[in-house]
Amino acid sequence: MRNPEPVPPRTSLYEKRQVVYPKAVDGKFRRFKWLVMAVTLAIYYVTPWLRWDRGPYAPDQAVLVDMAHRRFYMFSIEIWPQEFYFVAGLLIMAGIGLFLVTSAVGRAWCGYACPQTVWTDLFQHVDRLIDGDRNAQMRLAAAPWGPAKIARRGFKWTIYLFISFWTGGAWIMYFADAPTLTRDFWSGSAAPVAYATVAILTATTFVLGGFFREQICIYMCPWPRIQTAMLDEKSLIVTYKDWRGEPRGSVKQALKNPGEVGDCIDCNGCVNVCPTGYDIRNGPDVRCITCALCIDECDKVMAQIGRPRGLIDYATLEDCANERAGGQPRPIIKSLLHVRTLVYLGVWGALGAGLLFALGTRQHIDIAVQKDRNPPFMRLSSGEIRNAYTVKLRNMESRPRPMEVTLSGLPGGVMWTDDSARSSAARVLRRTVDADQVKPLRIYVVAPDGTAPQHFSFALRAIDKEGGSDVSEVRFDAPEAEHDNEGDEH
Ligand code: SF4
Ligand code: SF4
Repeated sequence: MRNPEPVPPRTSLYEKRQVVYPKAVDGKFRRFKWLVMAVTLAIYYVTPWLRWDRGPYAPDQAVLVDMAHRRFYMFSIEIWPQEFYFVAGLLIMAGIGLFLVTSAVGRAWCGYACPQTVWTDLFQHVDRLIDGDRNAQMRLAAAPWGPAKIARRGFKWTIYLFISFWTGGAWIMYFADAPTLTRDFWSGSAAPVAYATVAILTATTFVLGGFFREQICIYMCPWPRIQTAMLDEKSLIVTYKDWRGEPRGSVKQALKNPGEVGDCIDCNGCVNVCPTGYDIRNGPDVRCITCALCIDECDKVMAQIGRPRGLIDYATLEDCANERAGGQPRPIIKSLLHVRTLVYLGVWGALGAGLLFALGTRQHIDIAVQKDRNPPFMRLSSGEIRNAYTVKLRNMESRPRPMEVTLSGLPGGVMWTDDSARSSAARVLRRTVDADQVKPLRIYVVAPDGTAPQHFSFALRAIDKEGGSDVSEVRFDAPEAEHDNEGDEH
């Protein structure tokens, strides 16, 4: 009987998570991260509370997405639904901006400004505040559950929850007047969607920032994969200078065997401070978010043992190859200015300038016309031909504005509206449109018997100091010379 084939050992497709307990670190990059965290969190939490006077007819919240009235306010800019291309333009600029940042400084977005990074960093500081630094956290995690551990965990998670709730609460303030919504929220009279949104955002912040942390960057977020495809040998990344650090050896070994060991003393400091637990000495990897904290730690170690800083540093792969071959390090600014970065910068700048130009020259009034199709025209008992139109006059200013609509073309044509008498028909009509409103009008246009089908325009003009105009071309239907196809009105 043949021996059975040996069964290969089972390998798991799932890598068990190694919980990361990053050690506190100080240095110029850490201080820069503090600054970015303070600025981004302040912008997020404070912005809805900023006021901006737009007069009595518009909300005074500086940044507001007014869903009910379909407006987006951002300081002096007010975007109407038909101007959504401005928002689309801003989103495209944000996308190109990310490409630009990636091309110039690698994954700086991930390392400093991504919300997942900022909130994870915040929660990690809470860990240090409550549990102590890395070693104390590891001891507590390994300790059996008891009253002291339960109390400490409960307290810490309460702080997580508080931060998460505040995060969710701040989000909804962008969609309604913040002071009013706060009052309504706490009195229980806010819309159910407000409570649901806060609950969802509280839960996601609590779970993603408090527990999933680096797992989001490593396994869930698509951006690191896109970025890796965008990086090239000219992109700045955080690199370990292996030609200088290897072979690793302690200070004692270096003293005993001069010239035989590199600068890395294998202290693991760079790994211990890493928020994703990655060992940068293994080379560039998707797990490195380029936060540069390992640079701070290694620089500190190098200072302590009297060796030059920069064993781990920002550098491009091209610079690394140059230094490995004995070349001098290039100034960082030279690495920033390469062709691809300049192209992104040019596209981004051109788009921004185009949007600014469009914003600066846009009209604050407009006219939209829809013609009645059924029937396309009517013949009046006088023999004249009548067409009907639904016209909308839009006033995008936060004050009432007088406007004038004029018939342009259509010889002999006059118009009146359903709120005025036929006897008042003329080629010009005037209306005042309320602040920040659209005024619908039903306009009847008559032309003499024998008028041929043709196009003409409604010309709109604001008759105040600021002025402004818009035109809408429409069709005037009339019987063809050979055959009439509509009934008479009597
Ligand atoms: S901190 Fe510097 S010296 Fe210490 S292990 Fe990392 S690279 Fe080596
Ligand atoms: S390896 Fe260094 S730069 Fe990369 S994530 Fe870790 S600490 Fe930050």
